[in-house]
Amino acid sequence: MATKKCPVCDWAIKDDGKTVEVDGKTITVCCDDCATKVQTNPEKYLKPR
Ligand SMILES: [Zn+2]
Repeated sequence: MATKKCPVCDWAIKDDGKTVEVDGKTITVCCDDCATKVQTNPEKYLKPR
């Protein structure tokens, strides 16, 4: 099982984390706070590393 990292705060995501749909893509973050940040500023977080 791969450990995912939250694209916002770069912490490991526990359990299933929180999924957010932005621009037709689903991303997983660690918490509601980060979900809000992704929705506010998706371009910053959607780009692949
Ligand atoms: Zn996070």
